[in-house]
Amino acid sequence: MNRRYTRALITGVGGQDGAWLAAQLLSEGIQVTGTHRPSSPAGNWRLDELGIAAHAGLKLRTLDLGDPPACRLVVADVAPQAIFHLAGQSRVADSFRDPLGSVQANGVGTLNLLEAMRRDAPDAHFVLASSAEIFGSPEKAPQDENTPTVATSPYGLSKLLAHASMNSWRASFGLAASSAILFNHESELRDVAFVTRKITRAVARISMGLEQELSLGNLDARRDFGYAPEYVAALADMADRDTGADYVLATGHAASVREFATAAFASVGITLEWSGVGEDEIALDTLTGKRKIRIDSSLFRPVDAPLLVGDSAKARTHLGFNPRVELEELARRMVEADLERERRGKTG
Ligand code: GDP
Repeated sequence: MNRRYTRALITGVGGQDGAWLAAQLLSEGIQVTGTHRPSSPAGNWRLDELGIAAHAGLKLRTLDLGDPPACRLVVADVAPQAIFHLAGQSRVADSFRDPLGSVQANGVGTLNLLEAMRRDAPDAHFVLASSAEIFGSPEKAPQDENTPTVATSPYGLSKLLAHASMNSWRASFGLAASSAILFNHESELRDVAFVTRKITRAVARISMGLEQELSLGNLDARRDFGYAPEYVAALADMADRDTGADYVLATGHAASVREFATAAFASVGITLEWSGVGEDEIALDTLTGKRKIRIDSSLFRPVDAPLLVGDSAKARTHLGFNPRVELEELARRMVEADLERERRGKTG
């Protein structure tokens, strides 16, 4: 595929989306500079698993997004034609423990990078990883680009500040800047702090006899779980366009955490039987009668949208976005990757 850009900057290259995107762009012959926090370790298991850690087209640098001169230095130095801003504090649950840290990292960090682009690479296309959390607990479903933004969690607020900043810089300075309003997108490279990976890792370990059961919080939350590589492909396509725009990226199908867990256990041949309500809900293995899931009330959040499900008609029309991986397949792939890691004694 011929892109308009041959040099790309990816902030947060060591994260799930950064790693997948770097792999895709490198496979297309694009030069990638990826940044990571000064505090993160030099090696990165995701880049290793994707086999790109030592790729000749990939340069890694540290960048503190809270440091405006450092942002300018990196942007001026790399002279990117596409900037993918994926770095930040990505965990909603953590944002209740450190709300200002989240706003600082995601909101102010984005402003610093936008300003660096305005001054030092104004012709680049900026793509922001925004989030469905900017909709808070929306009354209407599905949500699209016109859904009112009323963030509730501090994480949602931090992403809303980033999203609004990008809109402001686009309107005020004519920058090509796009916001990808990402609904939950999962993969083999998901961090274990997220519920899908927490489940698939536990399923792998339980099926190997290394663990007995799994504790979860809110099972009723319904999310639009997509497959991350399909989403980063849309980010790459956004940067190919002349002008920036907002795009919802979502499958359009919602599933509860309970349904995801059921699918993940099913992929290793364990059928769950659910019983009880609220904090007393449990899931038993129908074959052995042993408990596999219980509720830990400390995992509930102060606010948690009951249903986030997106309408990505605009991205489908403009970008050809067409997510295909469905829930069972997603769970199966993630469990398979975790089984493989456990067999090799690797963590991820
Ligand atoms: P998020 O949607 O970006 O916050 O992604 P998460 O994977 O962290 O959470 C998705 C949903 O799973 C939320 O509604 C959580 O409340 C719910 N959930 C239930 N149990 C857990 C758990 O043990 N860990 C996490 N991270 N989320 C959980």
